[in-house]
Amino acid sequence: MNTFEELGIRTDILKAISGLGFESPTPIQEQSIPVLLTGEKDFIGLAQTGTGKTAAFGIPLLQHLIRELQGPQALVIAPTRELCVQISRDLAAFSSKMGAVSIVPVYGGASIEGQIRQIRKGVHVVVATPGRLIDLLGRRAVDISKVRYVVLDEADEMLNMGFQEDIDEILSKTPAEKRTWLFSATMPAEVRRIAGNYMNNPFELTIGQKNSGAENIDHIYYVIHGRDRYAALKRIIDFNPGIFAIVFCRTKVETQEVSEHLIRDGYDADALHGDLSQPQRDKVMGRYRQRSLQLLIATDVAARGIDVNDVTHVINYNLPDEIENYTHRSGRTARAGKSGISISFITSREIVHIKQLEKKMSKKFRHEKIPGAVEICERQLIGLIQKVHKVEVDEHGISKYLPGIYEELRDLDKEEIIKRFVSIEFNRFLEYYRNAPDLNVDFSRRDHVKEGDKYRSGKPRLFINLGSVDGLDAGKLSAYISEVTGLDKNSFGRIDVKGVYSFLDVEESLLPRAVASFSNEVYRGRRVRADISDGSKRSPAYGHSTHHSENGSYDRKTKHSGGKDWKSGREGSRRVFRKRK
Ligand code: AMP
Repeated sequence: MNTFEELGIRTDILKAISGLGFESPTPIQEQSIPVLLTGEKDFIGLAQTGTGKTAAFGIPLLQHLIRELQGPQALVIAPTRELCVQISRDLAAFSSKMGAVSIVPVYGGASIEGQIRQIRKGVHVVVATPGRLIDLLGRRAVDISKVRYVVLDEADEMLNMGFQEDIDEILSKTPAEKRTWLFSATMPAEVRRIAGNYMNNPFELTIGQKNSGAENIDHIYYVIHGRDRYAALKRIIDFNPGIFAIVFCRTKVETQEVSEHLIRDGYDADALHGDLSQPQRDKVMGRYRQRSLQLLIATDVAARGIDVNDVTHVINYNLPDEIENYTHRSGRTARAGKSGISISFITSREIVHIKQLEKKMSKKFRHEKIPGAVEICERQLIGLIQKVHKVEVDEHGISKYLPGIYEELRDLDKEEIIKRFVSIEFNRFLEYYRNAPDLNVDFSRRDHVKEGDKYRSGKPRLFINLGSVDGLDAGKLSAYISEVTGLDKNSFGRIDVKGVYSFLDVEESLLPRAVASFSNEVYRGRRVRADISDGSKRSPAYGHSTHHSENGSYDRKTKHSGGKDWKSGREGSRRVFRKRK
């Protein structure tokens, strides 16, 4: 393995990264830094977050800067505010020994005037979300006509989120002779198209297998009844006393419900979804980062760009709709060379999806059984003993109580005391799980594969890049679409309002006209895009969806029975185990 010095990095940057504790390059850094330092080629890096890719492009980018030049020389585009902030922070750290380098993050949800002021003060590197950058370009507040390097980070995520046209527009405003470096965890056709249109004979690097996610992730699935999802989740949490997890749900409602129930049951949990204001999101993320939250319950969209190390488990409370999202979800664990576990709760009819995931990712998923009372109690007991070893004793605080306690326990020897202290916890676990049912479903005799096919039928629908993040619900959206298209609201069929996009059933012959009505439409400052969605792919169940990822539709059956189960408190309503700090 090469050292950082051998990669050709300048001493001032070497000093900074050594100060960050980076001892040796990660595989993607080792392979991409020498190529990017030449500045001669466009570049495609297929890699997950957590592999060290920010430094892989950030270090060469900084080394190419000419500090004396005025105006932005490099542009980094990333899908979310979190990622923008993270990248800017990383670039600032890598450049800390270079003298003044101005790196300005610009993203939606924050004051645009403040960002414009920062840009006016002088900027070497702009790190932007596509939407905000389009706004700034529209106001002529930023000039990207002289950038020499453009980095598209998490390109697949950006396209998933509907930023395709924004990216096209941004790239068209950059000079032809710039270098483009594209990073993506997966390589769907849309990313290939960007590469084909805007890149010149790029150098391609794949870290790990395409679509495979990190190598060191253990993929486990549990087959249960839909109504037992919540009970199963609690068992997995109780079975893993040191868990530090992200639990992925499909919808905001589900996210909110799961987190509320976990909190009610005494777990350190909170929700992260698109309905939260930015300060609320920051607060939740801050608590999670500091580990005062043990469980972050999130939607796919809200969790994009989350960069937290040491996440032990990613839990798919419900499977996502598309394979790419599974890869993104599971990539939130096993970061920076660590290992991690990705868990999925599935019903027997969803086994087909696991087979599809296995095939696409060339990975074996392991079927495990939801642990029962005995196994959970054993694990908790071991966890308790480990805690005894690790606990920090507050000598000063406890000292005044000890003489009295010793006196009280004088008649018990050491073995007896240990037995009794441990029994206090053990009895509680046993009592709690005494009548706990077996949650596992025997799926060995059923033919499940056919059932997945039901997802692949349907008619063309109207796709629109507006959704609940725009404050729209089905009523508001149908009123808006009716207003723009002139079509009668009552002629609309089903409306699925998702996070960043929605689908609407419109009579097929009217679809082209409906789409055309949106050609110059802007909604609250965002350019509206409408399209005809091929109905056969609208709920793609790991097919190649043309568009989108977060399933905003809600599985009513699951929700209802899940809710009943929560309310009936089938496994008792309160958590028996103490909160773990
Ligand atoms: P990234 O994939 O860029 O999000 O990086 C994931 C994490 O790995 C971040 O917390 C980085 O600070 C850390 N990291 C990146 N490169 C190295 C390295 N060479 N040695 C140790 N940690 C690293």
